[in-house]
Amino acid sequence: MLVVGAGPTGLVLALWLARLGVRVRIIDRTEAPGTTSRALAVQARTLEFERQVGLSDAVVAQGVPLIAVNLWVAGRKVARVEFGAMGVRLSPFPYALITPQDAHERVLIAGLDAAGISVERKTTLRGFEDLGDRVRARVARPDGREEEVEVAYLAGCDGASSDVREALGIGFPGGTYEHLFYVADVDASGPVINGELNGALDEADFLAIFPLRGEGRARIVGTIRAEAAARHTALSWDDIGKDVIARLGLQILRVNWFSTYHVHHRVADRFGRGRVFLAGDAAHIHSPVGGQGMNTGIGDAVNLAWKLANVVRGHAETALLETYEPERIAFARRLVATTDRVFTGITRRGPLARRVRLRVVPVVLPALFRLPAVRRFMFRTISQTVITYRGQRLSAGRAGRVHGGDRLPWVSLGEGHDNFAALASLAWQAHVYGEASTTLRETCRARGIALHAFTWRRTMRRPGLLRNAFYLVRPDGYVALASTDRAGTALASYLDARGLRAARD
Ligand SMILES: Cc1cc2nc3c(=O)[nH]c(=O)nc-3n(C[C@H](O)[C@H](O)[C@H](O)COP(=O)(O)OP(=O)(O)OC[C@H]3O[C@@H](n4cnc5c(N)ncnc54)[C@H](O)[C@@H]3O)c2cc1C
Repeated sequence: MLVVGAGPTGLVLALWLARLGVRVRIIDRTEAPGTTSRALAVQARTLEFERQVGLSDAVVAQGVPLIAVNLWVAGRKVARVEFGAMGVRLSPFPYALITPQDAHERVLIAGLDAAGISVERKTTLRGFEDLGDRVRARVARPDGREEEVEVAYLAGCDGASSDVREALGIGFPGGTYEHLFYVADVDASGPVINGELNGALDEADFLAIFPLRGEGRARIVGTIRAEAAARHTALSWDDIGKDVIARLGLQILRVNWFSTYHVHHRVADRFGRGRVFLAGDAAHIHSPVGGQGMNTGIGDAVNLAWKLANVVRGHAETALLETYEPERIAFARRLVATTDRVFTGITRRGPLARRVRLRVVPVVLPALFRLPAVRRFMFRTISQTVITYRGQRLSAGRAGRVHGGDRLPWVSLGEGHDNFAALASLAWQAHVYGEASTTLRETCRARGIALHAFTWRRTMRRPGLLRNAFYLVRPDGYVALASTDRAGTALASYLDARGLRAARD
């Protein structure tokens, strides 16, 4: 298996494949990993996936949980939206974590090293051919020599200007925002250097100050109007309008890194063809508002990894791979549409938009966030724990309020234990909350599926689980089958109908 690109998407894909026992090579044309922060938000669903491969503690140790957002107008704090542990009882990681992308990637690379895989640097994909039963790829090595590699599958995790997507002739429709974004990592002081996220609503531009780990360190993200950008060729920190920054009382002591970039909103027409797949920015890009991009790429990687591993290891028919695109493209399209609406709303010009931003938002937002239902809804949406594959080919049945396709609800079992610990096996598994019948136990044993029976607690009803029902869980922690059948018949027919031989090894 060849993974092209060692950004967060490629790293997670290679790591999961390695942990699932698949021989994998991962190449990147750069000499060294990125050293800039770029994507900052690591969402709860990503941390849940990283916990499955034993990395979440190290990622959390690098970051700052997002506790609150302060909104500022004309240098005055007009509102504070408390997030706190907004997702308490919903996830073992009830917050969004602010972690610079380079620090996050370092943890993933260390995990990959521990699994015995090193990223092959200064190694570039030059081209490939899908031969029907394998893929032949041409790769330029650091010494300039070209190597021919034959692999069962190839994954293009090669970013927004993906060569793999280009070579497959897959369209990348969408558009480009007129705004130019700038990002700067700074040492700074002032009231907005307070360990929280601060946003200025003054202008029809976007300015946010994120806390970074370390005294006085922050990351500033803002937009520059197209007119301003057009006046300069190579923009630097000195070209940024400083009015809002001054009004916030922000003293910039040092600019450690500064960059500008255009933001696009695009989704690839297909997420692969034949034995070649696309994942991450190669498949979808959108505005960074909401901190979803990198997390969505990691979600793609996990979805693809276990399917490839099941097929490569002979535990499933190749048809399983056809479920990757429909499961992921539906979410990518929704995400791009939503972030587009939010971003356009934030940056809209005109008197009405200004009044809404300056008068309505500061009053309405904190009031809304005080409502528990709104907090739950927002957490589930932003954290990506709400993503469901209901209605897809691998999703069947319903038991309690949990449908096939839903993420397995998280339940704490007290004293630091929970039902997600079982997901570390990265294997298909059965969960029963209550009593499992003997016949169900026997069917699971015969099919090589580990059965986890958790003693029933009333609190399990809250996330929608049904006592004594049976939940077949995929290696990525999504419920495949939810059933009240206690005899194991539904399990056997589910697996047979989909050509799954979910062996435990
Ligand atoms: C300046 C900047 C600021 C950003 N800020 C934010 C932000 O605030 N919030 C947010 O959510 N997102 C942000 N992003 C986007 C975020 O960085 C991406 O969503 C994320 O990196 C996507 O990960 P990926 O692994 O899919 O692709 P990438 O990280 O782009 O990785 C692709 C890798 O493929 C390699 N590659 C490409 N072609 C080849 C080839 N032919 N052969 C071998 N290797 C190849 C590249 O060298 C690269 O390492 C920002 C991006 C940039 C550039």
